[in-house]
Amino acid sequence: MANSSPLVLRLLAASASVSRHAGSIIRNISTKKDVGVVLKGGRADDPQTEADRQAQRCIISSLKHQFPTVTIIGEEDIDGGCDETLLHTGLDEEVLKCSLPEGLHSDGSDVVVWVDPLDGTSEFTAGFWDNVTVLIGIAVKGEAACGVIHQPFFGMSPDNPTPSSSAGRTCWGITGVGSFGYTYTAPSNPARRSIASTRTHSTGHVKDTIEALKPTEQVNVGGAGCKVLMLLEGRADVYAFASPGTSKWDTCAGQAMLEAVGGHLTDIAGNKYRYTADVTLKNTRGVLASLNADHKELVDLVPDSVKQALSK
Ligand code: AMP
Ligand code: MG
Ligand code: MG
Repeated sequence: MANSSPLVLRLLAASASVSRHAGSIIRNISTKKDVGVVLKGGRADDPQTEADRQAQRCIISSLKHQFPTVTIIGEEDIDGGCDETLLHTGLDEEVLKCSLPEGLHSDGSDVVVWVDPLDGTSEFTAGFWDNVTVLIGIAVKGEAACGVIHQPFFGMSPDNPTPSSSAGRTCWGITGVGSFGYTYTAPSNPARRSIASTRTHSTGHVKDTIEALKPTEQVNVGGAGCKVLMLLEGRADVYAFASPGTSKWDTCAGQAMLEAVGGHLTDIAGNKYRYTADVTLKNTRGVLASLNADHKELVDLVPDSVKQALSK
């Protein structure tokens, strides 16, 4: 069945499978005393660790080996050579059971894979393990189409660090099909507006926007993947980040998974981001994501001054 499946479905099945392998690499490195922190651009709020580097090598080598014609873009600026020792070529059987919508059939030439090998690196180094995810987004013709969000430490914490044989959780989705691997629970208070935002990258615009969105609750957690999962599970209603800080590898997977269940991930003016290979890497116009909310109403609440400031 695997070989006769459409390319994008096989690519998603390989991505889900290799995300688990990357997760086990990340767990192994978390047990080391020295996780090899490098400050990217010398900035303390943009760290990279050996876990980011090895997880990216594993994911990109493995996907390139199986899909040599597909463009793959990873967050980390490291030697891109194929590392045979990290190759993983499994395919997720659950993914392969899906029927891929006609519009996502492709020969691979218009497919771009966006890889964030470890989203929430600051949180990884600070022991906020539940904020850490591996993100693999698949764009077809520039549109976020499929996504994988893997949580390497699901069910674990620094206080309870021993991984069971089933450590980690892999959630994935396909636009037009659905998102899987987690359970959505509706809030007991339908009037709740719980807003998830950054733990470490707040700014005046970020704060002003959250206030304008009239939250009934606010949660500050690290990582774009973790915040999208909060929406998917019904633990929060809105992800708001009026800052140019995130990049396409942070949002492609989550955008696809939210759209797959009727949600939205846009810039703060309500425009969808696109994911062609030549696109600007940064999400310069910020992030506004929601599920089971009136997204247009949220866009309208964002202050014009903030929209103006992030309009480039
Ligand atoms: P956060 O919600 O702050 O945890 O950020 C989500 C993702 O965007 C993470 O991968 C961060 O590293 C990245 N990010 C957000 N803001 C910045 C920033 N100002 N500089 C570098 N990376 C950022
Ligand atoms: Mg990230
Ligand atoms: Mg990262």
